[in-house]
Parts: sequence; C-alpha cells; structure tokens
Amino acid sequence: MWLDMDLKDAIVRAVVDGLHRAVVYLPKDVKEAIKRVYEEEKSPTAKTHLEAILRNIELAERLGLPLCQDTGIITFYVRVGTGFPAIHQIEEALIEAVRKATSTIPLRPNSVDPFTNRNSGDNTGRYVPVIFWDGFRDGDGLEIVVVPKGGGSEYVSTFAMGVPGKGVENIKEVVLDAVVRAGAMPCPPTIIGVGIGGTADLAMHLARKAATVRRVGSRNPDPHVAELEEELLKMVNSLGIGAMGMGGTASTALAVHIEYAYRHPATYPIAVAFQCWAARRAVVTIEPSGRYEIEQ
Ligand code: SF4
Repeated sequence: MWLDMDLKDAIVRAVVDGLHRAVVYLPKDVKEAIKRVYEEEKSPTAKTHLEAILRNIELAERLGLPLCQDTGIITFYVRVGTGFPAIHQIEEALIEAVRKATSTIPLRPNSVDPFTNRNSGDNTGRYVPVIFWDGFRDGDGLEIVVVPKGGGSEYVSTFAMGVPGKGVENIKEVVLDAVVRAGAMPCPPTIIGVGIGGTADLAMHLARKAATVRRVGSRNPDPHVAELEEELLKMVNSLGIGAMGMGGTASTALAVHIEYAYRHPATYPIAVAFQCWAARRAVVTIEPSGRYEIEQ
C-alpha cells in the first residue's frame, strides 16, 4: 500500500512526464489533420508554410525539444475515480509538477502578475496552472488531461451575447467575425472551439475545452450540431486566411468543434476559442499503485 506522500510524488512524476510528451510530440490526430490539409491546399505559399510546420514537428520529435517556444499557460482537466487515495494532494502535486517541468524540460515561464507584470519564473501564480475539476470517473484511477496552451491562440478568444431570436445565423456570424479578426495571430491552421448556451463563463469553458481536448476528426454526437461543425469549417476555410495567415484555400482551420448547454430564453451566449497548429495535449492516467500511462 502506497503512502499518500509516495503517491503524491508519483503524480508529480507522471505529470512532468505528460508535460514533456505534450510539448515535444503533437498528438497523432493533429499531425494527420495537418498532413491532410497540406494535400488539400492549393496555394503554394500556404503549402510552403505547412511544409515548415511539418518539418518543425519532425525536428521537435527527433531532437526531443519543445515544438514551440511558447509553452503556454498550463491547463489541467482532472477526473478522479471515487476510490482514488490522496485526493487532497492532487492540486499540490499539479503545482509542484509545473514547477519541476518548468526547470527540467525546460518550459518558458509565462505566468505574469496582471498588475505588476512580475513573472513568477516557474509558470505558477494565482489560479495558475489552471485546474478544472471535471467530475468523477469509473474505477479508482486519476485522469489528467494536460494542455499547454499558447498565448497567440488565447489572445483571440471571443465572447458575444447573441440575440436569442437570431438562432444559428447568430453563431455563424460570431464565428466568422472572430476568425477574420484573429487573422494570423493564432498561428493557423487552427482548431476552433465554439461554446453555445449556458452562462457566459460556461460557454467559454465549453469553447476552450472543445478547442483543446476534443480529438480532431471527432464529431458532436448530435447530428444537427455535427452538420453545423462541417458547414462552419467549410465557411471558415473559404475566408482564405490560410496557414500562418499567408492566404490559402484549405488551411485556415483543421476543425470546428461545437459544444453546447441549455440557455436562458433571454440569453444566447456564444464563445469562440482557438487552438493553434501546435495543439499540444496529453492524457495521463495514474493508478493508486503509482503506475501511470500517457496517451496522446
Ligand atoms: S500560437 Fe501556438 S504556434 Fe503560435 S507562437 Fe503561440 S504556441 Fe506557438
């Protein structure tokens, strides 16, 4: 039987390892989507940029170095098995893992006081890393989705309170407007997360999670929503922004992911979150024995 302290150390080790994997190796679904877009793209300029991105991915893997200098603000989505011991130590372990990963991988320190601009130097600070408690899972394991999210894609996040009577047309307008205003800033091709309904904060949470956690190629289980995802992806790519904003026919976005919640009849929250081509993510699963697995 492991003592709580041993298990806490095991969580730290697993999460540091997960962060290392996430910043060096892009998930398979994202790599395949970039390759697909490269084949579909007709603009020679966009193709050149996609080639550079694919080369970047290959070099990071070969050299074991981060894919991008901006290793982002680190977000964790945590699901705990009801029988997992040491639940009270998870938060502390996640913060310790971020500190350790920052010095050992290393990660660029990106956590700054909004008033004084003082950089904490270790990617931690008030409410950072961002930890979302995502409910319980079956069994007694702990699941942590590790998402290092860069500032360029975060910078262009958008929220609009739509007009309830306008319905789906509202969503299309807000998404297209957000993509045009974002331009090259989120380093396209992007993954666009759209959160609809709920409250203002819930809509943004759904959008950000849809952009960062959902696998590219997955579809919303509701067929009408899935159809809207397809339609929006075509519309976004027809804007011609292209890879790294240099113009292109197929490489503005890799995917549009929509998640929704029921809303109050008087409100229509619409949130748009972007994830850049360096869509880093790793899923770390830890057993009570301290054994862990990492999936991407
Ligand atoms: S938006 Fe993404 S690819 Fe661009 S600099 Fe930031 S982390 Fe890197």
